[in-house]
Amino acid sequence: MASTYIPQHFSIEELLPPPVFLPDAFRRAGYESLFRLFDFRVLVTLDLLRKRYGPCTVNNWHFYDSSAWGDLSVHMFRFSGWRPFDCEEGADLSEHKLFRAMDCKFRQVTPNEIWDDMIAKTSAPEFEFMQRIEAFSGMTWFHFDMGQHGRYGKAIKVLSGKTNRAGLPAFIERVA
Ligand SMILES: [Zn+2]
Repeated sequence: MASTYIPQHFSIEELLPPPVFLPDAFRRAGYESLFRLFDFRVLVTLDLLRKRYGPCTVNNWHFYDSSAWGDLSVHMFRFSGWRPFDCEEGADLSEHKLFRAMDCKFRQVTPNEIWDDMIAKTSAPEFEFMQRIEAFSGMTWFHFDMGQHGRYGKAIKVLSGKTNRAGLPAFIERVA
């Protein structure tokens, strides 16, 4: 376990769905041992974002009654961290399914404010490992991931929502 990065500010429940959505192998291993499944850069980045921007929710299902965990008609955040392959939320091969993406809901800042910071200081430690973000008008969460793209390491790729990139360029250049 010594080689596994354990986030200071996030429990493992916050990054995984409720037990009913976990593969058997995950359940057998136990939640606490599963931090190692995540790309460590995602975990480091989560902590850095939390330190800079304050309280942040990824999943919150563990604060609800367990009888509602499997009931998708009850709204709660279950799939904002890792997502199972048969999850109908998001893209088929979403980076969420590859342990490389997070949807962060910050209490004190909006995604717009973070995007502005990112453009002003793309090489700040909070953004250093990020490779792609999603942006569209009215977006209420901050999605980042470590997915590959043609300008890996040189820029952060901005994925559009269905309609737009909220005025952001296709790539945010990494200038120190
Ligand atoms: Zn996402």
